[in-house]
Amino acid sequence: MKENRSFDAIIIGGSYAGLSAAMALGRSLKKVLILDGEKPCNATTPYSHNFLTQDGKPPAAIAALARQQVACYDTALLLTDPAIRAIASSSHFTIETLSGAVFEGRKLIFATGIKDLLPDIKGLADCWGKSVIHCPYCHGYEYRNRKTGILANGSAALHLAKLVHNLTKDLTLLTNGEPEFTDEEWHQLQTHHIAVRQTGIREVAHTGGQIHRVIFNDYSTLLLDALYARVPFVQHSNLPATLGCALTEQGYIQVDAFQKTTVPGVFACGDAVSPMRSVASAVAGGNLAGAMVNNDLSQENFMIPA
Ligand SMILES: Cc1cc2nc3c(=O)[nH]c(=O)nc-3n(C[C@H](O)[C@H](O)[C@H](O)COP(=O)(O)OP(=O)(O)OC[C@H]3O[C@@H](n4cnc5c(N)ncnc54)[C@H](O)[C@@H]3O)c2cc1C
Repeated sequence: MKENRSFDAIIIGGSYAGLSAAMALGRSLKKVLILDGEKPCNATTPYSHNFLTQDGKPPAAIAALARQQVACYDTALLLTDPAIRAIASSSHFTIETLSGAVFEGRKLIFATGIKDLLPDIKGLADCWGKSVIHCPYCHGYEYRNRKTGILANGSAALHLAKLVHNLTKDLTLLTNGEPEFTDEEWHQLQTHHIAVRQTGIREVAHTGGQIHRVIFNDYSTLLLDALYARVPFVQHSNLPATLGCALTEQGYIQVDAFQKTTVPGVFACGDAVSPMRSVASAVAGGNLAGAMVNNDLSQENFMIPA
């Protein structure tokens, strides 16, 4: 049976960014629905770092506390029910969920995050978020001065190498194929004693997600304590694209300084819009998106009909 309910705003994605937007809206007495699929990108990482007051907490514990705090605002409703369809009309958005419920919202916020496309290397997915890591700010301190690899190539590898070199000097770049460095980049790598291995990778050998060596296609090995990996991604949800929200060249939802997408009434925040990938950034973007949606709704509510 289909259910019809109207909200001031519907937030699709109820992780850090979405819940932060929900708090701003709930505290502004706006009727807000948060639909979540409970698939945050950091689910495999045991401990989240670099978010003030929550440093070293399990990611799920941070999200659970956020849900609990948002639930205190009685105009906010949080449902675990992924959105599967979004339709725009001149006055509102209609959202259909996996369970068959139908909701209407005057504004829409996408806080749907991104999906990492992990390379098909045996063992790598088991280590993702534990000892195969995406970001020096999130997990680099824990692996300072340890044997570290970087799985990346070209200028992206150089960019990451400069950051990681600050944390450990025992560094090897794994290009997993032909290296793509300029003469200047080779010079920088050699000067800083950063080794480059180009042999294809066969396996990330690990114990319970803790990498201990990389095994190459020629069966040579490299002992490692940590491996950074720059991996491609896609938007977690295709609903922003189906509604017509423009994406940037890198694949993020395009937003302005007020978190507005290119579609009127549709806002976005968190990983879906920004390479500055952290819980802190997601919370900040969500907070701004919530405030901007409240601003627009309050202005519209204040208008005197002609
Ligand atoms: C392995 C790993 C480890 C990390 N470690 C850290 C760390 O230590 N410290 C740190 O600050 N950052 C860390 N990050 C980054 C951080 O996790 C992200 O920046 C943050 O989770 C982004 O929050 P978000 O709300 O934008 O997206 P996410 O947390 O990814 O949440 C998106 C939510 O949207 C939901 N969703 C998607 N589509 C739909 C739909 N159609 N309907 C309903 N719901 C939908 C998903 O189910 C999910 O719950 C890590 C990231 C990864 C990948």
